[in-house]
Amino acid sequence: MTTLTEKTSATAPGIFEQISSYEHEQVVFCYDKNSGLKSIIAIHNTTLGPALGGTRIWNYKNDAEAIFDVLRLSRGMTFKAAAAGLNLGGGKAVIIGDSQKDKSEALFRRYGKFVNSLNGKYITAEDVGTSTIDMEYIAMETNHVTGVPEAMGGSGDPSPFTAYGTFLGMKAAAKKAYGSDNLSGKKVLVQGIGHVGEVLVRHLIEAGAKVYVSDIFEKRVKDIVEKYKAIPVETENVYDVDMDIYSPCALGATLNDDTLNRLKCSVIAGAANNQLEDEKKHGQMLLDKDIVYAPDFVINAGGLINVASELDGYNRDKVMNDVERIYDRILDIFKIAEQQNFTNQQAAIFIAEKRLRDIANLRSRL
Ligand code: NAD
Repeated sequence: MTTLTEKTSATAPGIFEQISSYEHEQVVFCYDKNSGLKSIIAIHNTTLGPALGGTRIWNYKNDAEAIFDVLRLSRGMTFKAAAAGLNLGGGKAVIIGDSQKDKSEALFRRYGKFVNSLNGKYITAEDVGTSTIDMEYIAMETNHVTGVPEAMGGSGDPSPFTAYGTFLGMKAAAKKAYGSDNLSGKKVLVQGIGHVGEVLVRHLIEAGAKVYVSDIFEKRVKDIVEKYKAIPVETENVYDVDMDIYSPCALGATLNDDTLNRLKCSVIAGAANNQLEDEKKHGQMLLDKDIVYAPDFVINAGGLINVASELDGYNRDKVMNDVERIYDRILDIFKIAEQQNFTNQQAAIFIAEKRLRDIANLRSRL
């Protein structure tokens, strides 16, 4: 799979041009020789509250890739929080490195100091490559961290909530495509069977779906196939499988010119962030191909809803209630898209931007 960053970094404009085009409030860099930390925190918008978003560790090919990724991801967090009805802004952080080799207590504690230096304007959590243990190290240096282990009074790993919300959003999308949200017998391909993907596979198997799985780690595929009786698919064959539902749960930009000309599914509903390589163009291609697309930042908000609850005193029942609203929210987006002649992605952004505007106006009148 070509990642979002691989596809776009060569042609990416300069840093300030990018910051200005996405309208970020602040982007900060931290380099620490002793711990090896190379990190960027991007705060996109704090209209609704402090910017909450996870920390991703990824072995970016170059700094431009990392900058591009953090800018896009943080913008997505603004929309995600706004559409989910949370009083939070959008932010995200990346650490440049290999999550299998470069993680250490010193690295995360130094990173915790970096987060702390922003005085709560940015609050962190897990993302690809980071776990609750890493949050524990960060929490030694700052209070501005969520997703810490349950034993420390936190909410633990947000992934099961993301997976559950994605499952419900997928059911809503199936209802639109097939007239019923029953996934029994549906052929669903889950690409990326990590923290979120595995739990999603479990929900799908329980719902009676025929589940295909793919991952770049062969051992992971072997384990999941054995555990859930799923069907393995080679990574290069993912977009050619005869399936009803494609569920991207690895990295972004898997919906692009190449894949959209190959995919034969009726529904796309997955947890990955920034699934559309080009929001406008590929959102329109999905519409033209009559594929029901569940906008990524709406369907995958379960984890954010869960970690956000830590800020007000964690309440699991309330979290589950809020995650369950994803089903209706996805159906509302389909309705608005139809009424306004929008793509589903445009409808989701419309809802998020409307809330941002409404609350900004409200504040200016207080
Ligand atoms: P993870 O790192 O646990 O799992 C990702 C999996 O994808 C890994 O097993 C990895 O090997 C696999 N992968 C990477 N490249 C691949 C490729 N080309 N083909 C197939 N598999 C590939 O991450 P996660 O926490 O499960 O998150 C998955 C996605 O969902 C990410 O895009 C993340 O940003 C997004 N997301 C996660 C959460 C959450 O709560 N964890 C919340 C919102 C969004």
